[in-house]
Amino acid sequence: MKKLIAVLAAVALVATAFIGCSKSGGSSKAKTIGIAMPTKSSARWIADGGNMKAEFEKLGYKVDLQYAEDVVENQIAQLENMITKGVDVLVIAAIDGESVTKVLEKANESKIPVIAYDRLIRNSPYVSYYVTFDNFKVGVQQASTLETALDLKNAAGPFYMELFGGSPDDNNAYFFYNGAMSVLDPYIQSGKVVIASGQMGMDKVSTLRWDGATAQARMDNLLSAFYTDKKINAVLSPYDGISLGIISSLKGVGYGKGGTPMPFVSGQDAELPSVKSILAGEQYSTIFKDTRSLAKQAVAMATALLAGKDAEVNDTKTYDNGVKVVPSYLLQSTIVTKDNVTAALVDSGYYTADQIKQ
Ligand code: BGC
Repeated sequence: MKKLIAVLAAVALVATAFIGCSKSGGSSKAKTIGIAMPTKSSARWIADGGNMKAEFEKLGYKVDLQYAEDVVENQIAQLENMITKGVDVLVIAAIDGESVTKVLEKANESKIPVIAYDRLIRNSPYVSYYVTFDNFKVGVQQASTLETALDLKNAAGPFYMELFGGSPDDNNAYFFYNGAMSVLDPYIQSGKVVIASGQMGMDKVSTLRWDGATAQARMDNLLSAFYTDKKINAVLSPYDGISLGIISSLKGVGYGKGGTPMPFVSGQDAELPSVKSILAGEQYSTIFKDTRSLAKQAVAMATALLAGKDAEVNDTKTYDNGVKVVPSYLLQSTIVTKDNVTAALVDSGYYTADQIKQ
């Protein structure tokens, strides 16, 4: 009997310890993860948020998942709210990488660790980890699809091309652009690739908030100012939503029919409308970044942080946020063209065969 009482007392003690657990350890059941995503206007972020929520909940965590519709002030308000409510970890895909610095000070005061998700948070010492893809390589892959399509290594050229960049407040946009230019620059220097507008550099080619309509308007202007007497052969586009804007503009002046071929247009994220466009022979390529793997890695990082352990990283050099080099985990991405849509996106279970039907 005495033994039984002792055992029960021990069980009760352990249970109390779990219920009263603090931010730095104890039962996962009592913890809440705050997830701040930029927008629902792009399917990838819906998948990112949904995948993380499912993974965290499987482990018994509570999740506060918020989208800010690409409005910086909304995202800041959502983060302040999460901090006030006392979440245990913050996972943030920032709209503007420099705008959350102040909020992170508050998170730090409340001892809430922060994981930067896919986009680096700049100018803050309070970013514990960064989980993303090898963003420079994504840019290399985007440009190398154009290099292959135009057969730049062998063909004589010249080929006409225009360049589009991502949002200037997103650190990734510079990595994509620089990666792409590492491939294209030698051809531009030799004259094999000609940028008829002369518009080069992120200060000239960026697209605020990755907005497709903004890209479409810029493409309209480029076509009417520089391509009335010649045809454009390729467009470097950093993101599927931008690619579709560019393609609309091109179609508007007759590309893609009647002996005027659609220029080769790159992309990123393997979003469904772009996958369908690729299968229809309009968009040329996209870059598949498996958001399921990214979510898994973010969950592993958060779990390590909550257990007071170091998270697994594979890069401690690349991502200097202006205050510190943020320890990072970089995932690998896959080039997708018409030839491997099924192998890359259906066989991997990312989409069903039905979803990609046109
Ligand atoms: C992401 C890309 C995405 C872009 C626009 C970037 O930060 O890395 O995958 O295409 O934002 O949403």
